[in-house]
Amino acid sequence: MQYRRFPKIDGLEVSTLGLGCMRLPQRSADPADIDEAALDAMVLAAREAGVNYLDTAYIYHKGRSEAALGESLERTGSRGDFLLATKSPVWLAKDSGDWERFLDEQLKRLKTDHIDFYLLHALSAERWALVERLGGLRAMERFRMDGRIRHLGFSFHDNLDAFKRIVDGYPAWEFCQVQYNYVDKDFQAGEAGLRYAAEREIGAIVMEPLRGGALVRAPRAVREIFARHPKPRMLAEWAMRFVWERQEVTTALSGMGSVDQVLENAAYAEAARMNSLTRAEMALFDEARAFFKEREKVPCTGCGYCRPCPSGVSIPDCFELYNAAAMFDIKADRGRWYEAAYRSQGKGGNACVQCGACVPKCPQGIAIPERLAEADGYLKGGA
Ligand code: SF4
Ligand code: SF4
Repeated sequence: MQYRRFPKIDGLEVSTLGLGCMRLPQRSADPADIDEAALDAMVLAAREAGVNYLDTAYIYHKGRSEAALGESLERTGSRGDFLLATKSPVWLAKDSGDWERFLDEQLKRLKTDHIDFYLLHALSAERWALVERLGGLRAMERFRMDGRIRHLGFSFHDNLDAFKRIVDGYPAWEFCQVQYNYVDKDFQAGEAGLRYAAEREIGAIVMEPLRGGALVRAPRAVREIFARHPKPRMLAEWAMRFVWERQEVTTALSGMGSVDQVLENAAYAEAARMNSLTRAEMALFDEARAFFKEREKVPCTGCGYCRPCPSGVSIPDCFELYNAAAMFDIKADRGRWYEAAYRSQGKGGNACVQCGACVPKCPQGIAIPERLAEADGYLKGGA
């Protein structure tokens, strides 16, 4: 296993592969029904392979991931072998006492007296305002002082401007967690965000290096692009190597669901080095990215300038789901997501009343109301 450091954290070696606990093995279709024996085997395999970073969150597996992981660490006697990361569910906070309520519940679930890496979950400009309004950082500093959390960071889903504002809004961030992969290199914080954070000595953890598994199930045309390289590699290895190439990245999280996946990813991590990809290899990534981008439905960059919609439509999210469904051939999956998190919540394209307020704000010149109707029809059909 390879290990890297966070610029502001002395003496801590973190494995370049982290075990993400949002797709744990299940006994049934119910996300809360985690297979404990299979999880124990994964935890032990990860430890054996030298993985020392575990990432979970309050909400994963309908709130069961933390507890299952805590129980597994207790059963396998391995809490001391891992750095444990979890996240505060910012959007659920209603008053300033909630930060402590969440943390105490998480410590209980995880059966530990401290969280090594604590993140404010999925910050956006809107959620950052909520953190400020409810004294979230003051609470986090108190938890850090009394030892219940060791290192503080945030995970992020918004545009680059919002990322910079959050980075600059608190000088003591020690790390951030961003989405990054060879298709999304300029999406949300993207590569520019990685550089911006690194210049301020904020280490980066990368999530979605495989785009939720979509890059492993890429169509034949993409397989053929990578197959032209003389050294055969699995699609997962190509995608992970793209992330580990960056010196700003300390660790990449993969949401794993079996011992086989742990062992495969650990082998990739063992072999990958930063700044090692050749120009020819980079050209293959460019070609594969171009293939996906051609299938993109709406040229939305996720910049968010169209927000807020007075009718509550989550415009960039609808377009992101529409694009992902088409680019990665995952219409049914994104359709279900769209229905559960947007359409049924009054945030889907069907809630657009065609007032036109968003249209002049879009730098891409997207005919937003028409394209939302199109996205709604497509995603609704896939659900
Ligand atoms: S046109 Fe539709 S999406 Fe745009 S602001 Fe009006 S209601 Fe919202
Ligand atoms: S629709 Fe336009 S303004 Fe809104 S996020 Fe996409 S590119 Fe930005």
